[in-house]
Amino acid sequence: MSRIVSKLLLVFILTICISASYSQDSLQSNIELNLNEHPPLEIPLRYSGTYGELRPNHFHAGVDLKTQGREGFPVYAVEDGFLSRIKVETGSYGKVVYLDHPKLNKTTVYAHLNRFSPKIQNYIKGEQYLHQTYEIQRYLRPTQITVKKGEIIGYSGNTGNSFGPHLHFEVRDRESEEPMNPLQFGLEAKDNDPPTIQGLYLYESEEPQVVTTFENRTMIALKTVKERIQYSATDTISVQGYYSFGIQSFDRLDLSANKNGWYRLELKRNDSLISELTIDRFNFTENPLINRSIDYHFYETSNNRVLLTTKEASNPLGFFKNSPSTELFKAEVGKIDYWKLTLSDYSGNTSSIDWTTKGVEGVKKLTIPFGNSTINQTVNNQFLEAQLIAIENSIYSMEGLDFQLTGDTLSIEPKEVLVRNPLLLQIIPKEIKQKPSWVSYAFFGQIGKKETKFIRKVESDTLSVTLRNTGDFHFAYDSIAPVVTPRNFSSGQAINGYRYLEIEAEDKETGIKSFEGYLDGQWVLFEHEPKQNRFTFDTSDILLIPGVHTLEFEVEDLLGNKAKKTFSLTIN
Ligand SMILES: [Zn+2]
Repeated sequence: MSRIVSKLLLVFILTICISASYSQDSLQSNIELNLNEHPPLEIPLRYSGTYGELRPNHFHAGVDLKTQGREGFPVYAVEDGFLSRIKVETGSYGKVVYLDHPKLNKTTVYAHLNRFSPKIQNYIKGEQYLHQTYEIQRYLRPTQITVKKGEIIGYSGNTGNSFGPHLHFEVRDRESEEPMNPLQFGLEAKDNDPPTIQGLYLYESEEPQVVTTFENRTMIALKTVKERIQYSATDTISVQGYYSFGIQSFDRLDLSANKNGWYRLELKRNDSLISELTIDRFNFTENPLINRSIDYHFYETSNNRVLLTTKEASNPLGFFKNSPSTELFKAEVGKIDYWKLTLSDYSGNTSSIDWTTKGVEGVKKLTIPFGNSTINQTVNNQFLEAQLIAIENSIYSMEGLDFQLTGDTLSIEPKEVLVRNPLLLQIIPKEIKQKPSWVSYAFFGQIGKKETKFIRKVESDTLSVTLRNTGDFHFAYDSIAPVVTPRNFSSGQAINGYRYLEIEAEDKETGIKSFEGYLDGQWVLFEHEPKQNRFTFDTSDILLIPGVHTLEFEVEDLLGNKAKKTFSLTIN
């Protein structure tokens, strides 16, 4: 009834005031996105990633849909809408399309595409040529490129920060841009398998803070009550001081062997709900909270992700819902508590663990929850001088910070700890003065961690870096230019019938910063696939008349070393 009234009212409003579009939106807000009507892929949906999964430094904002190990499957608009944003970048989401569905107040996101549909491709290529750049981002007006439900918007790929062909698909709230769980909107995800429980952990500490080190982590021995779905602790667990629990678990969906995330966690004490997590919506600003919500020390040392079922009061992570007590539990001597933790996947398959705790005298022997991480130390040798400054409680560790220099390697220990307050490192390279040809460019990176590479110009002989990781760091100069090699052609040859010309360019030291291609002096678009050091020019972008043409390709690394190659190409 109210729907009919709304619709009549809507007609009335539209009649008297066509431009009141926001009223129209709010009146239609009872219409919900339905991903079952036209899913983003037409092939059977197999998941290699689910929404909210724990990833390095972030929660997964969408679902990863497998594409049979291949690229090029059509990707469909799930609903009528308009292209609100389009982005091409070598990292991150690669080639990505954002569709807005104003009536539903949703945005859907399709990432790692191999290429766009012709109308989107034509638009973005025009912009790329106009601004002479491969990496580009454009926000579009609602009337610019509209799409219909089921229309092909692009083809699945492996571009950007993707390490295997798949489609990353997101549903966001259009206003807040908060990513939501796509399964809430009917995206098919066949799942007959309950979440797999890998381990339950007890954390104890003297202070009401989550301290996750090997010293206060205890793995709880479990026995099977019902195969794969119900477990219980083998013994009553003694608890002292402040304590909390952590769970390691994954969920497998049908048709896929991937270890994905589950959907809901409930922790009950004596039958009353203590902690509840529902993986349905978060804000991108919450991503840094992930490292405070897992046993970070365990993750860094063993790559196992244990989610803490209780959180520090100061951790505002939104997945935790209706938790009357989200702080750590305080042991009471002699008190017996019965606990039950239940994990569910989106299809409602559950697995659970029961255990009993008994409060005992004393506290877990932890002398100081945070080590004396205050440091202001200078180290030096013939290569460089370096100073490390850290304020108190900079790291989540019992150990104090240790700072060493060996050759060109700076070691900050303990290695696998969560940094709470950034560490300041100042480096004065001594070799600049000895080798002026290096100018004052240098690079600095964490050994074994590509993502935390700092590449800087040394300002007034000092390189200042803010560190959020401890570990081993390497300091070096990069004076070597990238190496450029043509892949499927050579200079001087005829290229009739060549749709694509491929060039390989690699910079082993610091990586590629920028590149340009010119054909007979005119800028041409090269697409860059950094995973394969590949640069591709689509010859159909340009009308190539018979004769000899000159193709120039120049590339610069992150420290400004340049390489340039010129090829002579013939069209017969
Ligand atoms: Zn993804």
